[in-house]
Amino acid sequence: MADPFAPNDVWLVGAGPGDPELLTRKAERLLREASVVFYDALVGPEVLTLAQPGTRLVHVGKRSGRHSKDQRTIDRMIVDAALAGERVVRLKGGDPCIFGRATEELDACRAAGIAVRICPGVTAASAAAATLGLSLTLRGLARKLTFVTAHARGSEKLDLNWSALADGEGTLVVYMGKAAASEVSSQLIAAGLSRDTPVALVESASLPEERVFLTRLDLLGLASRTTMGHGPTLLLIGKALKSCDTRDFQTCHLLRAPDSALQR
Ligand code: SAH
Repeated sequence: MADPFAPNDVWLVGAGPGDPELLTRKAERLLREASVVFYDALVGPEVLTLAQPGTRLVHVGKRSGRHSKDQRTIDRMIVDAALAGERVVRLKGGDPCIFGRATEELDACRAAGIAVRICPGVTAASAAAATLGLSLTLRGLARKLTFVTAHARGSEKLDLNWSALADGEGTLVVYMGKAAASEVSSQLIAAGLSRDTPVALVESASLPEERVFLTRLDLLGLASRTTMGHGPTLLLIGKALKSCDTRDFQTCHLLRAPDSALQR
């Protein structure tokens, strides 16, 4: 097979949701053949063991709320390594093109005359659907699938088009939404989405510590505050989640509405 690394090339590689078996064969090969790997905090630890001994593994951070290198520093490290003739893999959790700040790194490389190629990965939403054992689309009930990020800068309010998201016609998958779960819930309800819309919170999908929590929209904030751990978590909202059954999961918790909440 031809060498995937032309001189000075950079590969942006999707590491998938955590389980190393969910890596593509291409990603595995690129990891094996890289001389340096810049990786995010969300890259599953076992994935990194696929690199050859001697490969430089550089952690470049990024978990919300924790200290990490800023984006410009990361861009510069990648560019410098490529210009120095390294075989550079930039490894990102999930798919690099879904809420992965890929554009900044693509732009930085291109501005330095470096060719960048992308190896896609399994995004967290696909892993969560597999965990839940259901389809995120459902003929007649969920005809669209929307991915949003609920990450707001500092104390800014979330700037999302709530009425478009609350039309009840599809499945809404919220990345980086754990901290803003109460706001997501109250905004969607205020915009008209039914309070009893089914919701799943899936933490650390595909990893051994994976956890699932099923509830309803009006209890989402409470669920997120009181039940989840510290792993990356997706919120999945919509009628397609109705077919989830708590008995299907080893570690599944169900938060039922108290009668008073149901009567409101
Ligand atoms: N590029 C990634 C998303 C990066 S944004 C992808 O395609 O999956 C980071 C957010 O992704 C986390 O805050 C969380 O909401 C979600 N996430 C990533 N990995 C996850 C996992 N294994 N389980 C649940 N959510 C995950």
